[in-house]
Amino acid sequence: MSDKNNIRELQATLPANVKLIAVSKTHPPDRVLEVYRLGQRCFGENKVQELVPKYQALPKDIEWHMIGHLQTNKVKYIAPFVSLIHSVDSLKLLQEINKQAERCNRIIPVLLQIHIASEETKFGLSADEAEGLIKDFNIKNLNHIKITGLMGMATYTDDTSTIRKEFSGLKTLFEKFKAYTLSGRIEMTELSMGMSHDFRIALEEGSTMVRIGSAIFGAREA
Ligand SMILES: *Cc1c(COP(=O)(O)O)cnc(C)c1O
Repeated sequence: MSDKNNIRELQATLPANVKLIAVSKTHPPDRVLEVYRLGQRCFGENKVQELVPKYQALPKDIEWHMIGHLQTNKVKYIAPFVSLIHSVDSLKLLQEINKQAERCNRIIPVLLQIHIASEETKFGLSADEAEGLIKDFNIKNLNHIKITGLMGMATYTDDTSTIRKEFSGLKTLFEKFKAYTLSGRIEMTELSMGMSHDFRIALEEGSTMVRIGSAIFGAREA
């Protein structure tokens, strides 16, 4: 296994307009640094308690993405530096991100996480809930947030037709939500979908950001 070959191969596979987020969860900072030295600058983590120490330990030109479920009481720890939060799934969370972003004098870009998988355990909003949230966002003055797109995780299965259907449904919703564009506040430009086992399908269905962990760093310990 080699980070170098994995990264090179991914960089060669991904279209230029697709952003690679190297998901470094569970891997220590020195592993992240190895991948950083291969040119990768964008990393994703799914836990605040892992994200903050890595931010502190690693070079400051890294773009950190929060891709996992986010509790409102932890937003304050990542608000000063996070580049994009992929996992917004409630108005309460939006309001807290707005409050903490205002404190930091920043505008924090976020994606709405949509529930597209058949599994019940995965977080996310239904299409109707997401539309409701966008309307609420418009009414409230959440001026320190910019909604830049959607994120979704497909069912974990070998059945590629199921995965494709879920990604294509998310893409359809993404296109529909472009109608809510509000200059500087809602701009649907990013579609975060695709992980190690399904990113090729995600790319074919219009992904603009892939979140890849094990195909770069190798399998995580259980
Ligand atoms: C862990 C994780 C990934 C990456 O998973 P791999 O299968 O290792 O590529 C992507 N997205 C989210 C939200 C994750 O938690």
